[in-house]
Amino acid sequence: NEKKLRHSEQLSVIGELAAGIAHEIRNPLTSLMGFLQLLGARDKNAEPYKEIMASELERINLIVNELLLLSKPKEYEYETTNIVHLLRTVITIANTQAILHNIEISLKIEDNEEMLIDCEQNKLKQVFLNLIKNAIEAMEDHNGVITIAVRKKLDKVEISFIDQGKGIPEEKIENLGKRFYTTKEDGTGLGLMISMNIIGEHDGEMYINSKLNVGTTITVLLPTE
Ligand code: ADP
Ligand code: MG
Repeated sequence: NEKKLRHSEQLSVIGELAAGIAHEIRNPLTSLMGFLQLLGARDKNAEPYKEIMASELERINLIVNELLLLSKPKEYEYETTNIVHLLRTVITIANTQAILHNIEISLKIEDNEEMLIDCEQNKLKQVFLNLIKNAIEAMEDHNGVITIAVRKKLDKVEISFIDQGKGIPEEKIENLGKRFYTTKEDGTGLGLMISMNIIGEHDGEMYINSKLNVGTTITVLLPTE
């Protein structure tokens, strides 16, 4: 039942363009956010509008930041990386959010051998954080466990993110990774698209296996050194 997730060939061109536009939006956005804060509490009647403005600006900021991640990493940013160390760092960051939702993140290392990959560390961290964030959001407050299983598979390393969340209906799976596809009120629908793009740049692959009301497993395959 496992399906391969494919990212569009044209994505890098669109990505470069989107990241360029996002970059241009960021400066005026930063100044708007700054000046909004400077507007003191002089006009009490304006307070509710200022709150709306702040949250709308925050939303633009979120989208802009995600778009900025689309630009291609430069060659020299690739480093030999121990994937288990990288995952531990990511889990430490993600735990701050998981704990709030009574969710445990458990790392299962199924190989004793050192697993080294050549990667752009910040981009991979971004992918793993996106996947864990989606897993947490799929589980909401149903306190459960997100298992991250790592193992060696021939000349590749396989990392599975297994959640106990609400799952994805079969007919919706083909929408995953399409730009702006989201089922969340405050979602951007960019997380998976960006993740698939980054994994593609690392010559990796992504797979999904999901069962409604049981959970979802997203598997990332990356070539080892
Ligand atoms: P966003 O999280 O902003 O909605 P994503 O690209 O990260 O955007 O995800 C797109 C959609 O894919 C989500 O809105 C959700 O419907 C679905 N999805 C992704 N990961 C999971 C998961 N682990 N469990 C259930 N649904 C998921
Ligand atoms: Mg997401």
